[in-house]
Amino acid sequence: MYIFLFLDNQSNKSKMMAGADAADAPKKPLVFRLYSGVPEVVRQVLLERGWIEYNEQEHDEKDWNLYWRTTSFTEAEYENILPWQRLNHHPKTMGITRKDCLARNLKRMKGIYGSALYDFSPVAFILPNDYTKFLAEYSREMLENGGTPGYWICKPVDLSRGRGIFIFQDFTNLAYDSSVIVQKYISNPLLISGYKFDLRIYVCVKSFHPLTIYMYQEGLVRFATEKYSLNSLDNQYAHLTNTSINKFGLSYNSEKERVGSGCKWTMSKFRTYLHSLNINEMLLWQRINSIVTLTLLTIASSIPASPNCIELFGFDILIDSNFKPWLLEVNFSPALSLDCPVDVTVKKGLLHDLIDLLNYSDVDHLRESAFAQQAQKRPSYVRLQPLSLTKPVVLLLANTLKRSGKDCNLAQPICSPHSTLHNLCKANHLEINKEEHCEKLLSDTARISCVQYGKQKVTKVSKVSLTRKTHPSTSSSQKETGLACKKSPQPKKKIASQNMENVPSNKNLCMLPAINKTTHKPASFKRFSKVECIMPRSRVGDFILTFPFNEATVKASQKLTNVKAAILEVQKLLNSIVSHKACGMKRRKEDISSNCRFVGKEQNGQLLWGPKDPPLLSVMCTNNHNDSFR
Ligand code: ADP
Repeated sequence: MYIFLFLDNQSNKSKMMAGADAADAPKKPLVFRLYSGVPEVVRQVLLERGWIEYNEQEHDEKDWNLYWRTTSFTEAEYENILPWQRLNHHPKTMGITRKDCLARNLKRMKGIYGSALYDFSPVAFILPNDYTKFLAEYSREMLENGGTPGYWICKPVDLSRGRGIFIFQDFTNLAYDSSVIVQKYISNPLLISGYKFDLRIYVCVKSFHPLTIYMYQEGLVRFATEKYSLNSLDNQYAHLTNTSINKFGLSYNSEKERVGSGCKWTMSKFRTYLHSLNINEMLLWQRINSIVTLTLLTIASSIPASPNCIELFGFDILIDSNFKPWLLEVNFSPALSLDCPVDVTVKKGLLHDLIDLLNYSDVDHLRESAFAQQAQKRPSYVRLQPLSLTKPVVLLLANTLKRSGKDCNLAQPICSPHSTLHNLCKANHLEINKEEHCEKLLSDTARISCVQYGKQKVTKVSKVSLTRKTHPSTSSSQKETGLACKKSPQPKKKIASQNMENVPSNKNLCMLPAINKTTHKPASFKRFSKVECIMPRSRVGDFILTFPFNEATVKASQKLTNVKAAILEVQKLLNSIVSHKACGMKRRKEDISSNCRFVGKEQNGQLLWGPKDPPLLSVMCTNNHNDSFR
């Protein structure tokens, strides 16, 4: 019998308990870790749910389940993440969360997919680089308007909360001392009793590979606190809707006509308002939904697969007087401070639902057994590049060999830093290219080839540790991530090199390690017969799945996202909703189902992000709404 043990060289606090029965150990609650500056409500919600806070003195440095910070994580933090751990940001999302990057990316998408589809963000120029282009556009527009210049807004690229923003008409008033974007000012916003407002839409990207987007039904409507007028461009209380600005406005506490006191409404209140005007909000929500998807698709293929990450974005949407929604910006760490009762209602609910979306069970058995036995630690960050065969892969190989009845000789490959499948097969007298075991091993190992395992030393491994630990909820978790596509029979592949370069790229996607147990009814999963994939849950609390939304989008997001195919589907969906409206919105349920390939109330409902219990589109359409939505 071979005796091996993993030694964690990052911490000497870990106690080795190889062979101990994890079930005997007392259950440890889930642990959250907060970086400084995280809003108090995050701590509050997690404590309410029975989690405990990470404490350097008490805990091993790896003994946490969720790490939350309002700033970015480092590459090393992504690389060293362990199977039971989650981070609250995906890597490399700056492509949409920095104003200049967003402008650049949307422009690129406009160039590729047409400005008709990507027409939801105001024209923008990044200065100083685009100064000449800006002047050309400024002059062109002025000529078109008979010599009157249009309205523009200037925003520093890396500031938030309205800092450094100003609106101008005369370009000689444009002054800046850092990189800024100059954007077309939407000068005809929809007003409520004369007050400008915008919508804060919360969006959770559960995963980029496969792209899985949830939009939060509740949200915030943020008002300016002084009446809108183009005669006072320098009045930020009339033109900017940031709470950080308006809470200092003189009218903040006063009862404002229809708006009330303060500067926020819940989204539900806004919907009630729209209903009171007999406005059918469904098309509006669908357009916002498409804006979110199209925006995320701009970066989808450049984000490394990081199944242990989840991210909450804040999309700022302004609606103009024609009811057209415009994307103003995407917030990296949307504000979670509780400034007023509306904040408490919306943000606490949001965080509770977000934690539900993470799908933890009360106790993380995986973490418990790992700490009890210190057997397997498998970081799960995946770079989008070929991966070399690493130690846990070798362990899995050994395990597979063992299961297949082969006597496994691991000593040589594991001790060598250059262990490879090739060597292992050789060491176990498997004939490369011919031997079936080797082929099977390749496909098994490919499935977890995402493992990057640089920092742990193997000195000994017990036979116990060779038994692959399976968390009780593995299968449900895998299904739930949408990565559990049924394996089609693998064509035989040659093992041609000492690394995994020949593994098909889709195999580099890591299965989300099972830290969680689904508590949701199987009914919330939709299995598509053709692609044999499992849909992510369509709803978690007030989070509604908005992508993927049909069979084609499931297919398009399986491997590295097929952006083109996904965009085509969004376009079709938009067209169908618009034509649906155009033909009097009287199509029957069957038509909608065949169009969207969704059957049943729940599946249709997710296309209709909006009311608490979304009606079927067909029902909604015959609801006698005065179709005053323009
Ligand atoms: P910040 O990150 O500083 O909040 P935003 O881009 O969100 O920057 O702009 C702040 C506010 O300015 C928005 O909430 C909105 O009220 C207003 N605003 C920004 N861009 C525009 C625009 N193009 N047209 C009209 N109003 C805008």
